[in-house]
Amino acid sequence: MRHLLDDLDKIKNKLRGRELLLFLDYDGTLSPIAATPDKSVFPEGMRINLKRLVGQPRCRVAVISGRGLEDIKKKVGLKGIIYSGNHGLEIEGPRLKYKAAVSPLYKKAIGEIKDYLITRLSKIKGVIIEDKGLSLSLHYRLVRKNEAPLLKTILRRTVSDYLAKEMIMVKPGKMVFDIRPASGLDKGKVALWLLARESSRKHGRKVTPIYIGDDSTDEDAFKALRNIGITVCVCRGRKSSARYYLKDTGQVRIFLRRLDGMLKERGV
Ligand SMILES: [Mg+2]
Repeated sequence: MRHLLDDLDKIKNKLRGRELLLFLDYDGTLSPIAATPDKSVFPEGMRINLKRLVGQPRCRVAVISGRGLEDIKKKVGLKGIIYSGNHGLEIEGPRLKYKAAVSPLYKKAIGEIKDYLITRLSKIKGVIIEDKGLSLSLHYRLVRKNEAPLLKTILRRTVSDYLAKEMIMVKPGKMVFDIRPASGLDKGKVALWLLARESSRKHGRKVTPIYIGDDSTDEDAFKALRNIGITVCVCRGRKSSARYYLKDTGQVRIFLRRLDGMLKERGV
């Protein structure tokens, strides 16, 4: 993996004359990871840089998050962006509104799992069970290290029947487990779908995707876009399918500013 800021000339050449679809994850990419999801604050400097890009006619911005749609819209608070929440189960943007249909059986399963987890994990301090409507997140960032194995055992036992019946899937993230429909939807598929949509709206003009994310769920998108776009992992020394890396959200902010500068230059 190469450092993205070392290759800006190459990136500039790649983007020459192209339309751009910029995918951004939220937690750990646009905003530093907070102790609990509700404590996360979108840094003002990042908002300013992102807003400039949203105003660029050649650039479409999509924020792709595992958070619920309303939650992520409120956190970012900018118009003209495509928001994908709940791992792609809900998408909203200019002239775009999509909500995945889930079966009543799935909804019932999620409700049962939530109730079981609330009861069974009640003795473990720091657990946050987040009901995102179409999916469930079990956060354990604040759980004591020596209690994490017990939490994982309880989760495994709670979901095993539902997993066996292929009603749900469980995806691990950074100090979180996401329980969602076994539909096979992931950030890679969502990104490819949005890219195809954007390309057709541009009447054949080439659209280059850039994808920046920090979590294991972003790896699906890195794989999907690796050979057609610019993939960037926000990480230090972790293995990733992305071609580039940035060290932290501060460097993401710098890149967004440089990208805005590139798009403003004549002939680029
Ligand atoms: Mg993230």
